[in-house]
Order: sequence, then structure tokens, then C-alpha cells
Amino acid sequence: MSTVPACSSCFASGEVPTDYGAVDCPDCGGAGFLPSRHVLVDWRVRDFEQAVSRGDGLGPSDLKWMLTELRQARAALMEIIALAHDIDDGDAIAQRIRFVANKALGLYEVSAAERPGHEAGAALVPRAVTCQAPRATSAAPAQSEPGGEPGHLP
Ligand SMILES: [Zn+2]
Repeated sequence: MSTVPACSSCFASGEVPTDYGAVDCPDCGGAGFLPSRHVLVDWRVRDFEQAVSRGDGLGPSDLKWMLTELRQARAALMEIIALAHDIDDGDAIAQRIRFVANKALGLYEVSAAERPGHEAGAALVPRAVTCQAPRATSAAPAQSEPGGEPGHLP
């Protein structure tokens, strides 16, 4: 018994009729069953790349789908980093997992000496979050604000 979902576009035949004869079903690629989500996402992203290369714009639904995929992928990577922090191993596999997931997330700063391969004693350093107000230009001197210095957030 098959566990993969059958393609409803071609009724699992893998072919669709056209004026010029039967052709491979565009939804399943002629397989008769739907590929994994991984393959479907890759196909859709490839369609986006081709559309952009032709100069066609992407629609709002395409962008919404892409943002949903991005958020899901980032959430999964965050979970992977959190799980890798809980692993206590001597092979530094957890550290390598954190480095790989961090490549996509940019959650931590990584210096050249800390990259895998140079990882003796290395650790990912949490990115410092700073918030600075723009400096006042000399042409327009900043006015003093009550309760704080000009140009600095409290
Ligand atoms: Zn099909």
C-alpha cells in the first residue's frame, strides 16, 4: 500500500491529455503521486527564479508563501540550535550543528578562528544588540532633551 498521496490533477496516471497528445502531468512530473514537500518547495522556488529571470513579477500570494516558508525554516533552525545546546558530546557534533544552523540564522557572531576546523575552545558568541540614535550633525545642533543627553536613547 502506497503511503504517498496520489496526484489528483492526473488521477495518479502521471499524464494529462492535451491537443497534441498525452504529456507528463505538470503537478507530479509524470510520477502519478505527489513528491515530498521538500521537492515541491524546490520546484516552486525554481519557478520563482525563472519568473524573475524573465522579468515577471511575483504576486502577493507568492511572496506570502515565501515568507511563510522562511519563517518555518528559521523556526526549525532555532529549535535545532536550542536542541544542540542541550547535547553534551565529546565529538563536538552539537557545536558543528549550531554552526551550520547559525549560517542561515545569523544568530551569533562567528570569527574566522571560531569556524569549524578551528574550533578548539571556540564558542558562538551571542550577537550584541545595540540601539544607538543617529548622531546629530554639526549643521543642526541637537537640542537637550529632558532626562537624557541629546542623541542617546534612555
Ligand atoms: Zn499528476
